[in-house]
Amino acid sequence: MSGAEEAGGGGPAAGPAGSVPAGVGVGVGVGAGPGAAAGQAAAAALGEAAGPGLPDEAGLAGARQLQLQEAAGDPDAPPKKRLRAAEAAEAAAAAAAAGSGKLEERLYSVLCCTVCLDLPKASVYQCTNGHLMCAGCFIHLLADARLKEEQATCPNCRCEISKSLCCRNLAVEKAVSELPSECGFCLRQFPRSLLERHQKEECQDRVTQCKYKRIGCPWHGPFHELTVHEAACAHPTKTGSELMEILDGMDQSHRKEMQLYNSIFSLLSFEKIGYTEVQFRPYRTDDFITRLYYETPRFTVLNQTWVLKARVNDSERNPNLSCKRTLSFQLLLKSKVTAPLECSFLLLKGPYDDVRISPVIYHFVFTNESNETDYVPLPIIDSVECNKLLAAKNINLRLFLFQIQK
Ligand SMILES: [Zn+2]
Ligand SMILES: [Zn+2]
Ligand SMILES: [Zn+2]
Ligand SMILES: [Zn+2]
Repeated sequence: MSGAEEAGGGGPAAGPAGSVPAGVGVGVGVGAGPGAAAGQAAAAALGEAAGPGLPDEAGLAGARQLQLQEAAGDPDAPPKKRLRAAEAAEAAAAAAAAGSGKLEERLYSVLCCTVCLDLPKASVYQCTNGHLMCAGCFIHLLADARLKEEQATCPNCRCEISKSLCCRNLAVEKAVSELPSECGFCLRQFPRSLLERHQKEECQDRVTQCKYKRIGCPWHGPFHELTVHEAACAHPTKTGSELMEILDGMDQSHRKEMQLYNSIFSLLSFEKIGYTEVQFRPYRTDDFITRLYYETPRFTVLNQTWVLKARVNDSERNPNLSCKRTLSFQLLLKSKVTAPLECSFLLLKGPYDDVRISPVIYHFVFTNESNETDYVPLPIIDSVECNKLLAAKNINLRLFLFQIQK
């Protein structure tokens, strides 16, 4: 019996031996600095009752000042946050020296996210005392707290925060959408609410691609040069055989994708297929420095008993200090087999959680001696999606198993 087998032998109800379920301990949380990844996806994940309210300006400014001082002097704060905090403190000092700046600038500092100090791009959440957090930072704080096995708290006032304790602040969201913002291409100012359309459809400097991209023209450049380029583009006058070469190259990349889907379809015709909903629950190792990992209760598929384990950032020591978030997982066979069991397996989004995972098929031959796969990546689209999973209490996915028969 391997070490992992012993550790996981506690069964689902008791949890793995020597571990405690994560997320029950209450600690004094210090908000680690989330990245500025706001992300509409994160916002969409939090479709909760909206509750408009106005922040207490004086309290907010004071608390933020406090937070900034703390962060600037906190050697444990992530470098990015320390830097930002230092910059912001400098800017605040300059603004104070110059008296009050323009109304827009003053509003900017009132309406910005109290964690990343950026103006929120999507939903804005507030703690019970009214401190504002952009959706990305809010999700990140909840995910961090889970990684550290602490109750998530507002970085400003330390009150508890959670999806049910915090509500959205529509007034701030609307006010932010009215504030001017600079187009990244032409550098002109627009109300935030109009900026997206401007950058996508109207800006003369936005980056565009040649319409002959489909036959291999690599040109891209500002929109105002597009007509000139397309008139002069050499691609439409290429000969058939030249185009054939270009198309061959493009076909190759499509072929790879097709291979994946074809192999899924051929797996679907196997005699023995099983699938089940799996629920990963958070646990802590009992090391000196505890680590978060996830494990499912035992489940039965293809008449065998299995367990799935998952870990964050490949068990990196302090995953909460990094903005990059990944999950990897391992499939363990818990029952004894009379003959080697060759399987293909893949994890996909289940019916109960909305997360974007690209399908990757893994392969393993299970025997009584070798009954666990290596940790393989769970190909989640990006860190924002990954944080969405970590912020939730449990991770719900669906496992497919295909038994390969000789
Ligand atoms: Zn933020
Ligand atoms: Zn607060
Ligand atoms: Zn523009
Ligand atoms: Zn072209």
